Amino acid sequence: MIAARFALAESVEPEPHGGVRARRPHFSASALNAYAECERKWFYRYVCAAIEDPGSAASAYGTAFHLALERFHERYVRPRADELAAMHRDLEREIENAFAEHRDGFPTAVEFELQMRRARRTGQRYVEWLSAEAARAPFTVIGRELPAQLELEGFSFIGFIDRLDREDGSGSVGVVDYKTGTIATSAAQYLEKVRNFDDFQLPFYYWVRTAAGDRVTRLVLLPLKDALLEVRPIVLEVVPVPAAPARGDAPIGTVSIVDLERAKTRMIEICRELTSSQPRAFPVTDDPEACVFCAYAIACARRPPRDGERFGR
Ligand code: SF4
Repeated sequence: MIAARFALAESVEPEPHGGVRARRPHFSASALNAYAECERKWFYRYVCAAIEDPGSAASAYGTAFHLALERFHERYVRPRADELAAMHRDLEREIENAFAEHRDGFPTAVEFELQMRRARRTGQRYVEWLSAEAARAPFTVIGRELPAQLELEGFSFIGFIDRLDREDGSGSVGVVDYKTGTIATSAAQYLEKVRNFDDFQLPFYYWVRTAAGDRVTRLVLLPLKDALLEVRPIVLEVVPVPAAPARGDAPIGTVSIVDLERAKTRMIEICRELTSSQPRAFPVTDDPEACVFCAYAIACARRPPRDGERFGR
């Protein structure tokens, strides 16, 4: 009976294997970082656009805090230690305004309130640090959310620099990246990430600003995640040749121009890989930690199991 109703079609020839190309004409440091973390994640996000990531309270916290600091430094271009009380008051106000504007990014009213309180407390710590830093080495904020663009061997890179500072004494420039998530806890750890090609963001900004004529001498990660800890930036000072590695947990270390050149070369290599159109697989990471907050984890059957999950799937 069934055979009478259905005519089986001839099987079609399988399509020839084809390559996959990056869909966008430009690359960002976050795309390169995603590729370095897990090639499959890059494929899902930047080729398939598999799902629309609705974001999370953590990402809304980051967006709102960045906005608050951008506006805060519009007023405090040259922070001064004797403005401490005013800075406390103004940053608190900017945080409240920015969080109110991003209210929809928080799934519940409780989450919104908790995250805003965390930001207020972290903001207090930020102002304390800023005031001490301004007294130690006065500086001028010369850029906020600054567009960063660079052409390298035919590839176009784009991004935004959170903040650019110029030291009043030496005239040298520091690139500052606000970090509201987990980051390296020491200069040595961050240098390792740069050397292993796990993080391209600050090397990319270094080359952007160097091409623009700045004398960039510092790459700074500014942690704004934990309200219970003092703000303790991770700083890599740029030196011409590799220097002795920083002490284990020291927040200040060095990165050589040789390392930054290698990072730049690797950025170009990755772009070549991603635009080659050669058939290829996009392997999953072997680090289960990379999967914890991955938006594609449900769809990703081959993701590496975490220890407690090994027999659970
Ligand atoms: S779940 Fe893990 S392995 Fe899969 S795409 Fe995400 S990061 Fe990669």
